[in-house]
Amino acid sequence: MAILTASHLKKYYGKDESLVKALDDVNVSIEEGQFAAVIGTSGSGKSTLLNMLGGLDVPTSGSVQIEGNKLEEMSEEQLTVFRRKRIGFIFQNYNLIPYLTAYENIVLPVRLDGKKEDKKFLKEIVNFLELDGKLSNYPSHLSGGQQQRVAIARALITKPALLLCDEPTGNLDSRTSDKVIDLLKMTSEKFHQTIVMITHNPEIAQKADRRIRIEDGRIQSDETVYETDSRVTA
Ligand code: ADP
Ligand code: MG
Repeated sequence: MAILTASHLKKYYGKDESLVKALDDVNVSIEEGQFAAVIGTSGSGKSTLLNMLGGLDVPTSGSVQIEGNKLEEMSEEQLTVFRRKRIGFIFQNYNLIPYLTAYENIVLPVRLDGKKEDKKFLKEIVNFLELDGKLSNYPSHLSGGQQQRVAIARALITKPALLLCDEPTGNLDSRTSDKVIDLLKMTSEKFHQTIVMITHNPEIAQKADRRIRIEDGRIQSDETVYETDSRVTA
């Protein structure tokens, strides 16, 4: 089942001679549980696409549906609430709040919703992301990899329909980067979490089970890797 569908998505910036067609008729559906990578060179429209899919910016035309909800039909207020509840965002710069501890950062989306976090689930994700012992640290007292793992925990705490990641390893060294990508892959498997991840790095894209290549605001190719069952049955 498609959890996300974008139809005839266009995003133009500027006008007349300075018109930039950042997205030019993009059509894409993401299946539930899929770990999809969006790849392409700098300026190809990757971030613009992610911002449209996550309702962070408004398309020039076209439609985005998440779990059957059309983002373009929501008021700004409805969209804010929908994003907080149903979409998890992960950015290159972690975007943690510096004056909150790791724990306070992680539970923030739940608290903003006026709720208390599910303690058991919190423990599960903290353990899974190997953040035990780090929860009282402020972001400035965490390594880049730890900060990104806190950001992943914060994105997962609401059990979102969709995790959107824009160059999540862009600021990390290659070893830490591998670890974060492996964690995202494991997240997709363990929690059946749908993930759309932007990367310009082909090696990182290789870990995803689908690769959508975008060039000049258009989808150039789209390949899904199906797991083959290698067991031999007698
Ligand atoms: P990518 O993430 O693949 O590097 P972007 O989506 O950021 O690409 O940008 C796609 C194109 O749109 C680029 O030509 C970029 O300069 C342009 N662009 C992006 N954001 C804006 C903006 N806010 N105003 C004007 N042009 C923009
Ligand atoms: Mg970008």
